[in-house]
Parts: sequence; structure tokens; C-alpha cells
Amino acid sequence: VKISKNIENLMMNLQILPGVGPKTAKRLALFLLGENKKDARKLSCSIDEALDSIKECQICGVLNDLEICSICSDPARDNSNLCVVETTSDLFAIEDTKEFNGKYFVLNGLLSPIDGIGPDELRINKLMEICNTRKVKEIVIALNSTLEGEATGYFLFENFKGMDIKVSKLAEGVPAGGDLDYVDNNTLKRAFSWRRVLSKD
Ligand SMILES: [Zn+2]
Repeated sequence: VKISKNIENLMMNLQILPGVGPKTAKRLALFLLGENKKDARKLSCSIDEALDSIKECQICGVLNDLEICSICSDPARDNSNLCVVETTSDLFAIEDTKEFNGKYFVLNGLLSPIDGIGPDELRINKLMEICNTRKVKEIVIALNSTLEGEATGYFLFENFKGMDIKVSKLAEGVPAGGDLDYVDNNTLKRAFSWRRVLSKD
């Protein structure tokens, strides 16, 4: 039996999800199109609605439904302390630890010359502008310990060298290649409170 074109398309598109291969995609597609049609419609609508309303905060880059997110506009948070993360989900993971009361900058990516992702794509100019206008005193680099994460962290460190800013990095404890999001809360909490200052020379 030949699978219908539309089922095949859905299967193909489901495979953009992390961890979903051809087998799982087939199971999910048939699950959605079978007795779960109503829920499938809801899922499809909520994806559409989220795509239409969710955007990056103009300052920090976090995904949310406001031009300026609630963290950036919160006067109770420390303007002189900035935490640099790769993704919105990393930001949420750090918020969950309640260890940090500064503000964030979400890169929405990591340096990757092969994929054409350089400083412009990561809005490094915006980051430098924030540091200057807010008189940031400390920057915490909270990136995953992958090759790209390390390279990006090093690049940022080099960028801040001439400025009067203390640059620190999460302590070991974030497993290599692991998403911050998947590290359990306590490990991340410890990594945060044991962050080390990178030397200036
Ligand atoms: Zn923001």
C-alpha cells in the first residue's frame, strides 16, 4: 500500500522536532490523524497562534509576546548584572534556580562559521550597547559546554577585555553537549553559585 501524499508530508514535517526520526514520525502522524483529530486541530491552531504572536524581546532577545519582555522592564532586577544564554529555554532553566536577579541577553544561537552564524547574527553589537548604556559590572556567561558554546564564550570574553566588567563563567557541572535545560535544577544552581571569574590576562 502506498502512503498518501499528505500523510507523508506530515511525517516529513514532524521530523523537524528534536529526537523524532522516521518511525516516531509515522506513529505520531497516524496518531494525530486517527481518533485524535480534534486534538490535532487544537495543536495546529496553537502552533499558528504562537507563531503569529511570539517574537524576540527587542532588548534581550527572549521569546515572548511583548516588544520589551517582563524581565527587561522589571525595575526590581539588577541592571548591572547580565547573564548571557543561548536560548529562551536556558533562560527559563536559570530563572527556575532563583539564583540570579540580574537581566539576560539571549543570543538565540552560537557562533558557527560553517553555518554562517557570526557576531552579527548573535546581535553582539546590541549586547555591547546594553553593557555601555546600563553600566554593566558583571557578565555571567552561561553557555553549554559544547565546542560552539566554549568558542562563543571565549569570543565574548575577548570582546569585554578592554571594558571594566567582571566576566565570569558557570562552574563545571553542566555536562558537555548537554542543554542547560536538561541539567537538573540543583546541578545548575551549584554551577551558578560557583561560577568563576575569567582572568583578565
Ligand atoms: Zn527582554
